[in-house]
Amino acid sequence: MRKASSKGRRRRRVLLKMSGEMLAGSQPFGIETRALNFIAREIAAAHREKVEIALVPGGGNILRGAQASGKGMDRVTADYIGMLATLINSLNLVDALRRNKVDAEVLNAFRVGDIVEPYRVSRAEACLQAGKVVLLSGGTGNPMLSTDTAAALRARELSCQEVLKGTKVDGVYEADPVKVKSARFHPRLTYQQVLGRGLRVMDLSAIALCEEGNIPIRVFNLRKQGNLVKVLRGQSVGTLVE
Ligand code: UDP
Repeated sequence: MRKASSKGRRRRRVLLKMSGEMLAGSQPFGIETRALNFIAREIAAAHREKVEIALVPGGGNILRGAQASGKGMDRVTADYIGMLATLINSLNLVDALRRNKVDAEVLNAFRVGDIVEPYRVSRAEACLQAGKVVLLSGGTGNPMLSTDTAAALRARELSCQEVLKGTKVDGVYEADPVKVKSARFHPRLTYQQVLGRGLRVMDLSAIALCEEGNIPIRVFNLRKQGNLVKVLRGQSVGTLVE
């Protein structure tokens, strides 16, 4: 059960989904130290806003199961590697966060021996209530799924009030803004508009989970300094899906 604050109200709790490519920085893949430190500072600033933060990192900067299986790898094995990639990202992030004086802990969706504790709702709850940033690695723990779905699932399990999807673009456009310069930007959308128009916000299962749980999704550019704090302060940054 969530503890109420001294004023009798629940603290705000958000689920931050961060694509793995955010850690690659200017590199095509892997982890760039500068990008890692930038993200850690952005999360540290967000943490100072007295918001409970559960973070689901992707692993696409290391491997995406669907792409690897397209090149001949067994899909389930590829997905396990993808899930392990999210653990590698989380270990890098937790270290960078601690260097920024943020108390943080990694909980993994499946057992990985002595490295980190396995995820359980009660354990994540305890960490969040103790003021820790919780990094939820390993996706859902199941192949054929994505970390978007993991983010929506964990947001539901942990009663987060919002899903914040940090990307390298400013929000949701009608078409890819890199390819179509005149592509229309959407400041606000409904879940049904996203599903009906096939807009690339999160994968379909993630959108459906958020819609069922009535959890709004904010898609915003995490590469712009200060954007995460602006989102937390309610400034109109990015696209709101609700
Ligand atoms: N993955 C999986 N199950 C999950 C989450 C992730 O099998 O519940 C695998 C899948 O292969 C995926 C990879 O981990 O491609 C990395 O996750 P994702 O592609 O969501 O990372 P992102 O694109 O957000 O960096």
